Formats: sequence, structure tokens, C-alpha cells
Amino acid sequence: MSAQRAVRLPLRTCVACRTTRPKGELVRIVRAPDGKVTLDPTGRAAGRGAYLCSDGACWPTAIKKSAIERALSVTLPPDIRSRLEQGQALAGGGSSGS
Ligand SMILES: [Zn+2]
Repeated sequence: MSAQRAVRLPLRTCVACRTTRPKGELVRIVRAPDGKVTLDPTGRAAGRGAYLCSDGACWPTAIKKSAIERALSVTLPPDIRSRLEQGQALAGGGSSGS
């Protein structure tokens, strides 16, 4: 009667609040092999990744704590930084009503 399926979701830890969540609920920030830091919505980019909760609640915390910089040993580019501060890492430059 064990209909329980072992669902093996890849779990990752948010570098800001240290919450462990399924990978799909996190946003990946990746340091490419060439050292470039980008947001990686697909989670497939090559390089070393750091994860943040996708709801954006802890992104400003991540900035304040330099959590991403520490996790990836990089300096965050200003554009990524400001997007995280504003909670807009996932907005693809679309129009958001005021
Ligand atoms: Zn978080």
C-alpha cells in the first residue's frame, strides 16, 4: 500500500536566507567560466551557480550580506545588483504597470 513515490526534486539552498527549496522555486545566478555574472532563469547555463528564492523577498538581503559575491567569489555587476535590489531579476524588460 505504499503508493508513495520518492520524488527526487533537486534541492538548493538560497544563499540569502538559507532556506532549502526545490530548484524550481529558486532563481539561479551564475558565474560563467569567463567570470561573467548573469541571471540564469533556465538554470542551465554553464558555470558556478548561486540560488535565491524566486519570490524576491530575500534579494535585498542577499545584496546587503554580499551573499552572492561570497558564494561565487565575484563582484556583482551593477545592473544585476540593481535588479536584485528592486526585485526585478526575472522581469525580462517587460512593461509592468505602475
Ligand atoms: Zn531566500
